[in-house]
Amino acid sequence: MKIKIARYMGKEVTQKEDIEYEVSLSDATLLEVLNEIKTKQDATLSYSSGCRSSICGSCSMRVNGREVLACAYKVKDGDFVEPMKNSPLIRDLVVDMDRAYEFNAKAKAWQSSIKKGVRLSQENQMLNELQSDCILCGSCYSVCPVYAVNDEFLGPFALTRVWKYISDKRESEPQSKIDAIQTNGVWDCTLCNECTLVCPQGISSKTDIEKLRIRSVASGYSDPSFATSFGSFGGASFDGSPSF
Ligand code: SF4
Ligand code: SF4
Repeated sequence: MKIKIARYMGKEVTQKEDIEYEVSLSDATLLEVLNEIKTKQDATLSYSSGCRSSICGSCSMRVNGREVLACAYKVKDGDFVEPMKNSPLIRDLVVDMDRAYEFNAKAKAWQSSIKKGVRLSQENQMLNELQSDCILCGSCYSVCPVYAVNDEFLGPFALTRVWKYISDKRESEPQSKIDAIQTNGVWDCTLCNECTLVCPQGISSKTDIEKLRIRSVASGYSDPSFATSFGSFGGASFDGSPSF
């Protein structure tokens, strides 16, 4: 079986070369193949991995243009492996996710002090059970097309976490979280659903963002682009006269 890997080398990692490797493994995960290459063919190949069980989220990369966990993806002949997008490249398949994780802080994606005496119903617990499964693999961050035009976008996994805490009845400061996600946040998402398609945990950040929009509207916010387009809809101003 042959696979090709995008290697980024040189001091500034600007030197790119797609290198083909041949391995004799079959029915192997991408991580097993990378380990085989590194131990038997090319010790300079760099990639991240941890638990080997799809729990730590550290082996995310792209195969044939799609984000996968290397420890879960079964390699096929002819696959092309690349690093994740939207994060600075460190070397080969290793990217620096620090900036992406900073969006959790910007979006206030944490639990504030807990209201005392609030009992959670089973229904309330189920509201954010799935979101708690996020392993911070960054696949949704890599696939999101908004970063091509706005690198300050809070992004899918941070917004999913905001929904997780806001939907918890014990959260004492939900409004401050809603306030924090109005700029470069919920209204900047195009609802393309790409994040849902790549999430290894089955989380739909797009759906969580839609729920956050509803909560935002209930708090008095509105979609700024809708307000703008409504003002000039059909080339007419609010009073119906043409606007040029
Ligand atoms: S649905 Fe929104 S957050 Fe998800 S990938 Fe598309 S633009 Fe990004
Ligand atoms: S929401 Fe899914 S794709 Fe995004 S970081 Fe969490 S586990 Fe990964």
